[in-house]
Amino acid sequence: MRSSNSLNSVILGSGIAGLASAIRLAAMKVKVTVYEKSSTYGGKMGVWKSQGYRFDTGPSLFTMPQYVFDLLTIDGLDNVPFDYDELDVLCKYFWEDNTKLSAYCDREKLKKEFHDKLDENPKNIDSFLDDSERKYQITNHVFLEKSLHKLGTYLSWNTFKSFLSIHKVGVLKKMHIENQKQFSNSKTIQFFDRYATYNGSNPYESPATLNIIPHYEFGIGAYFPKKGMRSIVDALYEKAVKLGVQFNFNTDVNELVKVDKGYKVNQEDLVYDIAICNMDIASASQGPLKKLLKAQNRHYKPSSSALIFYWGIKKEFKDLELHNIFFSEDYRKEFTSIFKNHTIDEDPTVYVQISSKCKKDDAPSNCENWFVMVNAPYVENQDWGRLISETKKNILTKLSRILGEEIEKMIEVEHILTPQMIWDKTGSYKGALYGSSSNNKMSAFLRHSNFNKHHKGLYFCGGSVHPGGGIPLCLLSAKISTDIISNDFKIC
Ligand SMILES: Cc1cc2nc3c(=O)[nH]c(=O)nc-3n(C[C@H](O)[C@H](O)[C@H](O)COP(=O)(O)OP(=O)(O)OC[C@H]3O[C@@H](n4cnc5c(N)ncnc54)[C@H](O)[C@@H]3O)c2cc1C
Repeated sequence: MRSSNSLNSVILGSGIAGLASAIRLAAMKVKVTVYEKSSTYGGKMGVWKSQGYRFDTGPSLFTMPQYVFDLLTIDGLDNVPFDYDELDVLCKYFWEDNTKLSAYCDREKLKKEFHDKLDENPKNIDSFLDDSERKYQITNHVFLEKSLHKLGTYLSWNTFKSFLSIHKVGVLKKMHIENQKQFSNSKTIQFFDRYATYNGSNPYESPATLNIIPHYEFGIGAYFPKKGMRSIVDALYEKAVKLGVQFNFNTDVNELVKVDKGYKVNQEDLVYDIAICNMDIASASQGPLKKLLKAQNRHYKPSSSALIFYWGIKKEFKDLELHNIFFSEDYRKEFTSIFKNHTIDEDPTVYVQISSKCKKDDAPSNCENWFVMVNAPYVENQDWGRLISETKKNILTKLSRILGEEIEKMIEVEHILTPQMIWDKTGSYKGALYGSSSNNKMSAFLRHSNFNKHHKGLYFCGGSVHPGGGIPLCLLSAKISTDIISNDFKIC
């Protein structure tokens, strides 16, 4: 057994899971050095500013804030400020026939809204959300909070109980088919099918297990950080620095080599006992970890990606909320376009997030900062120049038609993020937002583990490994991998 003070670790990448791993290891008194190819931390959780507008360029929805607080107070000190508001309306939904629906967090208000706007029986909403919570309770502590690749996970009483209830989580059923059975109105079905996109999957292919996702919002709540989404990684970075983590920015890791007593980075002399890879696993296995790992891309189906327009809009829209969805008319066709034809449908569902609704200084007065996103295929030889201009036209036509205003005239600043740019900037293989897709019933088990059984001291965290993508799961991946380290190196 070695004292944790004498252990030396390196983390490849400072995405949110890399930051969380750094905090957890530093709190265990392990020396931590982070190598980050970019000039700043946060990976996909970037920021872009222009002419008085501020945009969070990556995630826009914040759930499970407790996971962030656990990190910020891990050493018993509450010395990094971080605050957020709970949302009353989770999202506002618009359909082409002028139907509008506000998804209230409050269950009673939500049921009334579904009943008033879509004539949906409140009992259907109740039984769906109760089932979503049940699925969450069965799966959470086994499939999300623990490694699926350690024997110990399967030997606990909790796991045994979960496996006895596994038939209740819908692994063998398809999400859309289950939702069709549950609801009477096709708009309600579309509403709940959309949750598959929260991890970049296709509701017509993915298992009904993904129906746990609504519980995160309706059961636990959705939030917005008072200083914007980027402030989540700002706070984590500040905490990591306070705990003594060393960051090397603008430092691309080209090679991680195994030597007698640990790992070396880029032929440098220093040897690390522990290496954690926060890079996308498919990219790492073809790049710096090529000699240590088998290529991960052969059977790897990336999740969907996104095309995002950041628009500074010279007007305030009273009818819009922080999160807004403008649904496509043929949802199945939209997913066929993305996952089978690897293109963006001519009538895409459009997501508009406006952080200036909550954080006024994100836009000049009487203006709004629109984050306009459509789901897009991962990179597969598309002509992005053509797709961007066609999609922009389709989005503008759709938003102008539904909102009754000519939107294009109101755009005063624009920035665009494409799947190829996401790949180039963050190393996310083919631009996937959430690592591998969950379109397969075995996907939870097929995701890469948080450790490597052939190479002692090598671990993995982030959206492309277990338990998956999105802020909460990335934070859990950091907890799982550092718990394994603590056990492997017998750190108290
Ligand atoms: C547009 C968009 C919208 C999203 N919306 C949401 C949302 O609303 N809610 C949500 O929860 N999630 C959302 N996500 C997903 C979420 O952002 C990711 O799951 C999460 O941020 C991934 O974090 P990560 O730790 O895996 O690392 P990443 O953010 O992928 O960072 C990896 C880091 O590794 C670095 N790196 C790569 N290669 C090297 C190398 N060779 N050497 C050194 N460093 C390297 C990169 O520069 C990067 O900093 C969204 C993502 C995007 C892009």
